[in-house]
Amino acid sequence: MSLWLSGIGVSRGIVLGRVQRLNGGDLEIPEYPMASGDVETEVSRFNVAQKRAKEQLHQVREQIPGGVTGEIAAFIDTHLLMLDDRSMTDAVVAVIRGQRINAEAAVRRQRDSLVSVFEQMEDAYLRSRKDDVQHVAARILRILLKQDRVAAVARVPEGGESSEPLVIVADDLTPADIILLGQQGAAAFVTEYGGPLSHTAILARGLGLPAIVGLHNARRLLREGEAVIVDGELGHVLADPGAQATEFFSAKRERQDRERTALGSLKDKPAISRDGVKIRLLANIELPEDAVRAAALGAEGVGLYRTEFLFMNRSGLPSEEEQYEAYARVVSSVKGPITIRTLDLGADKQVDSVGRPGPSPNNPALGLRAIRLCLKEPELFRAQVRALLRASAHGDVQIMLPMISSVQEFRQAAALVEAARLQLLAEGRAVAGCVPVGAMIEVPAAALAAGLLAKHAAFFSIGTNDLIQYTLAIDRVDDEVNYLYDPLHPAVLRLIHMTIDAGERAGRPVALCGEMAGDPRYTRLLLGLGLREFSMHPASVLEVKRIIIESDVGRLRSQASLLLASGDTAEIQGLLAGFEAPPGAYTR
Ligand code: PEP
Ligand code: MG
Repeated sequence: MSLWLSGIGVSRGIVLGRVQRLNGGDLEIPEYPMASGDVETEVSRFNVAQKRAKEQLHQVREQIPGGVTGEIAAFIDTHLLMLDDRSMTDAVVAVIRGQRINAEAAVRRQRDSLVSVFEQMEDAYLRSRKDDVQHVAARILRILLKQDRVAAVARVPEGGESSEPLVIVADDLTPADIILLGQQGAAAFVTEYGGPLSHTAILARGLGLPAIVGLHNARRLLREGEAVIVDGELGHVLADPGAQATEFFSAKRERQDRERTALGSLKDKPAISRDGVKIRLLANIELPEDAVRAAALGAEGVGLYRTEFLFMNRSGLPSEEEQYEAYARVVSSVKGPITIRTLDLGADKQVDSVGRPGPSPNNPALGLRAIRLCLKEPELFRAQVRALLRASAHGDVQIMLPMISSVQEFRQAAALVEAARLQLLAEGRAVAGCVPVGAMIEVPAAALAAGLLAKHAAFFSIGTNDLIQYTLAIDRVDDEVNYLYDPLHPAVLRLIHMTIDAGERAGRPVALCGEMAGDPRYTRLLLGLGLREFSMHPASVLEVKRIIIESDVGRLRSQASLLLASGDTAEIQGLLAGFEAPPGAYTR
């Protein structure tokens, strides 16, 4: 009998294959006391395991296929750095010596204390990086317990037991697992844990393999060797599918394959609608390598460069000089404009050097994060702003301030930017003649006051990931309330429209850089709401471009105004389904 399971689809594509379960994710970790004479032997056992873990990761790094995004190598590098970090070396040794316990128990204790710090972070991306701690600790633990996951993964037969594609079903997968499995013929991934920002999601997208995360109990419900269909777009797994379902999904897969091939031809075409409206398609990037990939995928520039990466996995703050070099490298590698966001960290961030003393806030998402933290720590902000302004001499740079919630906050931050600019000029440093400073609109208050903010901000960029979180009062990474996360909620649509409208009236460009911008389901709606700049994951650029090329923006505007008048989400979905889609156009 067929079984239909639903998780979070994070990487598109359809695979008809057989289940290969990866067990051994849940490790049983013994804890026992050590006699004082044995403590140093235990320390050496840990040191050997830590060294072996590094060797394994170096091997994996060498196996990364050529031509895939630098993001993938960066994940492995992050783990290598963590393995060498004092929190994973000296701190564990101190626990073994101080508590006189076995190495496995010491690693577990250290892992749990690091994870609890990460769990309190308000930034979704950084919070999800607790995965790194867990994966690094698990690698050392498996070596200590002689349950090496790399060996387990290596047992996956090439191409599966038969010639059918392999669908890997696991509790969670490390970046190294994904790379190895991808090389050994895995065609899709289904994991029990993780969200859209998890490693599985990001890496699977990077490798172009369908993936579903957060499918609880997947290993219990799916049998080894069972035939399954995975739809990574919808997040569905259909076990033991009948002939009819197989036929339906085969046809859908063929259609998607044709569409993907056709998309390649759009790379150098301008994003202009059928009625002549020019749209700017930009990329969101995190690492310098991403800029090159973004351009290769047809992005005209960068609409959001998240700078938090520079501050991660280290004990001290990066100096102005180090930041300048990093930003200048990225700016020089981007052909078009680049919008760089100032730090979006919070008060209790694991980024040791930025943490502030005192108890953790009860509501970190509402606490001292992003621009609030930067205004409280002007030296931190000044060093970054000086580095950004110096980097502006190498390209077309804009500075974007995150989490702005009032005009006063914006003006205060903009004044610090201006002071830094004047200081640099007085020092005889090169700075671009014009470096626009804009506001991210991700707090409802900023959207409601967009008309007032537009008098001061040079541009807006709507961060729907946070705007939806704050408007609907739901934690964007809490899967218990994930069902309430609704970009089509009438309140969200009104705030987006209000912001675009305020920008238009004041002659300020308005971009949208939340996940919504790269989701083809919303492209027509956003065009209809008046959006003219989209910034997204580079992999989505061509698909969004195709929809734009096929759209009549004038018609979409009138359809969108009808939709805005509706207060009912079901009705909104119905209206959206009927949005202008010319014959032969891509529809979902
Ligand atoms: C957003 O909030 O939509 C956004 C782009 O910023 P981040 O996801 O980094 O919070
Ligand atoms: Mg945000």
